[in-house]
Amino acid sequence: MSAGKHEHIIKSVLPGSIAAELEIAAGDRLIAINEREIEDVFDYHFYTNDEELVLLIKKPDGEEWELEIEKEYEEDLGIEFEQGLMDEYRSCRNRCMFCFIDQMPEGMRDTLYFKDDDSRLSFLQGNYVTLTNMSGHDIDRIIRYRLEPINISFHTTNPELRCRMLHNRFAGEALKNVDKLYEGGIQMNGQIVLCKGINDGEELERSIESLTKYIPCLQSVSVVPVGLTRYRDGLYPLEPFQREDARRVLKTIHRWQERLYEEYGTHFIHAGDEWYILAGEELPEEERYDGYLQLENGVGMLRLLEEEFREAYEGAEGDQRKREVSIATGLLAAPYIQRMAEQLAVKYPKTEIHVYPIRNDFFGELITVSGLITGQDLIRQLRGRELGERLLLPCNMFRSGEEVFLDDVTLSEVEEALQVEAYIVKSSGRDLMEAVIA
Ligand code: SF4
Repeated sequence: MSAGKHEHIIKSVLPGSIAAELEIAAGDRLIAINEREIEDVFDYHFYTNDEELVLLIKKPDGEEWELEIEKEYEEDLGIEFEQGLMDEYRSCRNRCMFCFIDQMPEGMRDTLYFKDDDSRLSFLQGNYVTLTNMSGHDIDRIIRYRLEPINISFHTTNPELRCRMLHNRFAGEALKNVDKLYEGGIQMNGQIVLCKGINDGEELERSIESLTKYIPCLQSVSVVPVGLTRYRDGLYPLEPFQREDARRVLKTIHRWQERLYEEYGTHFIHAGDEWYILAGEELPEEERYDGYLQLENGVGMLRLLEEEFREAYEGAEGDQRKREVSIATGLLAAPYIQRMAEQLAVKYPKTEIHVYPIRNDFFGELITVSGLITGQDLIRQLRGRELGERLLLPCNMFRSGEEVFLDDVTLSEVEEALQVEAYIVKSSGRDLMEAVIA
């Protein structure tokens, strides 16, 4: 079913919502709100905030309904549209030297190859955008509608280097959009994907220094190491970071954290968890994460996991029940999970926990996060191992809300292949503990 340029087909209506009460239904089209055409989800969010609205809806038989609505400010109407963004998804115009999608093997599901760089997804889902395909009109709407925070992939603030890294001659110029967002008072977060010998060292110093001028609108910037898979043939030759590199990166970040905390009361620049593991250094204390602003980017995840576990563990009474469970995870988190398992053995002495770090053969060994582990690696590496009564798997191994791995292997296929009951565990330390002693 296709819609006119700014007609938006309704996919479903939430039961009990305002839209349901007005008998708006799947298949209807939204034509206008307060006599304005709705360009996309940005417009929709803004214009539906009001307490009084007039919706123009077209029914499948062509009849038009004008519906007057009175509601609370910001109360949702309960409408879901066929196109999530109420417009086409905008794909990126870059060819970044470190792009993960270019490093994926062939034959995976199509949606995984889609390179989005859409500011509307940044607002709705927290995606990071490079700002290279944003028009002045988009920036104006973000400021006017106060669509924040916007998450920005900076990588560097050196315009020429940015053009080179993103392989886009407009990538340097696009940084001027940050000035506009800052002047408009829009909250932002940033990230830097660090590539060895490219944007590290002095370039990193320069980037951090120039980004500090956007504090407090720019709330945090994370620095994460480039992810390198084994599928880099024909791509820009990038080298993995080594222990000494990681130590240097951390030294730079810690020095800036200290300085900025003194000056602004925020640590601002944060190192991804991988740097600490690679450097063999202790994770920072919780306070240094400024409220974990960049968890999605793997910044502070391990510290938070430990803190949540500690809190749950301290409140637990323990018992003498016999259990045997196994936990599979990526190489990155495995030592931390192992430590938690050892601690649990004190209060639950008859509980046997096997922690299995899963090596990423699918993408290559340099990929150590559990979120990129495939079902086939899991099955291959756990076959014949002691798994006990239950196998616990972190939820980030699965497509959100589904029981399917990145390679389309399903949870029940894993259960079948390993002859064990497998459970998906939510990401907190408390959830993990509760799943073990369930
Ligand atoms: S912006 Fe760069 S890293 Fe992101 S999808 Fe596009 S090419 Fe890949």
